[in-house]
Amino acid sequence: MTNNNVEKMIIVGSGPAGFTAALYTARANLNPLLITGNEIGGQVAITYEVENYPGFPEGLTGPEMVEKFQKQAEKFGARIEYDYVSSVDFTQHPFTVSTASGKEYRAESVIISTGATPRKLGVPGEKEYTGFGVSYCGTCDGFFFRGKDVIVVGGGDSALEEGLFLTKFANKVTVVHRRDELRASKILQDRAASNPKMDYKWSHVVERINASGGNGNGTPAKVVSATLRDLKTNEVYDFPVDGVFIFIGHTPNSELFRGQLEIDDAGYVITDKRMHTSVHGVFAGGEIADPVFRQVVTSAGQGAAAAMEAEK
Ligand code: NAP
Repeated sequence: MTNNNVEKMIIVGSGPAGFTAALYTARANLNPLLITGNEIGGQVAITYEVENYPGFPEGLTGPEMVEKFQKQAEKFGARIEYDYVSSVDFTQHPFTVSTASGKEYRAESVIISTGATPRKLGVPGEKEYTGFGVSYCGTCDGFFFRGKDVIVVGGGDSALEEGLFLTKFANKVTVVHRRDELRASKILQDRAASNPKMDYKWSHVVERINASGGNGNGTPAKVVSATLRDLKTNEVYDFPVDGVFIFIGHTPNSELFRGQLEIDDAGYVITDKRMHTSVHGVFAGGEIADPVFRQVVTSAGQGAAAAMEAEK
């Protein structure tokens, strides 16, 4: 179904960047249409509690935060469409945005905020216990592991950086890495080596994540151990832990824009400092364009910046 109206502004994605872009463009009278995608709120929606977003000293849950973002954008007139963008055409202006439900929109300007997805291990227990001891964000959830033992999975910069952050809270942080050599930068490796709370399980993989409770009897699930395999000896054993933090990379949700926008080797949409992509009139903000900061507050800031540039 083609809508012959040309929208002034279409925002693709409903994470902190998308909702903030919707809020700013609505207040600038651009009458934005935000198309949510399948996971409304993005990664923050699966975060148990957000304590580092300024203005909320008591913290709030990820879903509460998403609800507030949406409410605030709608208060100023942003229209929210629960649909999934399946293709775009940025080669002609106005741009074309098509959705999974068969709608086709035309837009003068587009802000892309489709985020990134943390890579999953794909082992039993990972999905079930996400938010109950399994996490993809040390900065978000580390505080809940004060005095506890945790593992971080991965051998890159994220695993070591987040692992080092977790030592501020945890009793012990064991890095479980599939090889006997880290990929992380030397400076992080040196810092980790001199931290007495950091330990390593070299050439190990996680085969399963185990929890107690969570079986409908009113006790919430709680991770109690990870089943590890030593790849050198093939020994399989349960390693007691309270938390499993997984940092095996992120996949930017940019497939849709391949061939339309400049994308770097890791899959991130390339923008300049003002959030302009390689196509005039198309902007990007949040984790789709940011492999570095990946915080709710920085993504929201980038969404605001993209909106202000689009308004111009
Ligand atoms: P990354 O560099 O791709 O590292 C991912 C790690 O996870 C690798 O050690 C990899 O093992 C391991 N891995 C991947 N799939 C796995 C699986 N299925 N099971 C077990 N282990 C698996 O990702 P990243 O650490 O998120 O970093 C992404 C980019 O951001 C990098 O360019 C990094 O330099 C940058 N970054 C920089 C900073 C900083 O400068 N402070 C901080 C964070 C990230 P192998 O090593 O065996 O492949």
